[in-house]
Amino acid sequence: MSEEKKKILIIEDEASIAEIIKFNLEKEEFEATIALDGNTGLAEGLSGKYDLILLDLMLPGLDGYEVCRRISEKSTVPIIIVSAKEDEADKVKGLELGADGYITKPFGIRELIARIRALLRRNRIATMEGGVPDEILNTGNIILNTTRYDVLKNGKLIPLTIREFDLLYCLAKGNGQIFSREELMEKVWGYEYFGDIRTVDVTVRRLREKLEDDPSQPKYIRTKRSLGYFFQSSENQMQ
Ligand code: CA
Repeated sequence: MSEEKKKILIIEDEASIAEIIKFNLEKEEFEATIALDGNTGLAEGLSGKYDLILLDLMLPGLDGYEVCRRISEKSTVPIIIVSAKEDEADKVKGLELGADGYITKPFGIRELIARIRALLRRNRIATMEGGVPDEILNTGNIILNTTRYDVLKNGKLIPLTIREFDLLYCLAKGNGQIFSREELMEKVWGYEYFGDIRTVDVTVRRLREKLEDDPSQPKYIRTKRSLGYFFQSSENQMQ
């Protein structure tokens, strides 16, 4: 009774690199499909067929950033950016556009596989949690539904990625408890996944942009200087 193979989409214009990744993924019992340009990658990525996407940044047609942005807008499929660019700014930009991870070429195939497994495990936990009865977390203005992965603010649906949702859920559930970046990394991303805690800050920024009336003066996702972040419900807001 083997589990169904996980399907990975490789968006990469260098055929030789794409083939090496595909070969290694198949050796690890994944199913892998290659898209050699941005437009094909976008169409495939939005098809709903894949469990995870590996995305190169420098692509003919649409570049990787644009592919990342457009897929993340409509889909919760996890994306790992695989890029030759080592620039920190590029990394942050990729994460801001909705990527879940970033790996720099050249990389070890074992590292890549470990990243993929960690992300898939995280998503499976999310899916399993989706199988339990609805939990509605009502904080006043903001209501989270863990089954549908919905967030309503004043009755209006706020589109969040899975990671953004998990982060908000973790903070909101804490109801004022302060979480360090490391704690959030472990709870939301999974312990062994991704060492870079700036991912937390980037995701907080993205979440604020979607959730807050004024992201520069956040009322819900609050910073506790040098300690971390906490959630302030509307009921506890000071006027
Ligand atoms: Ca390329």
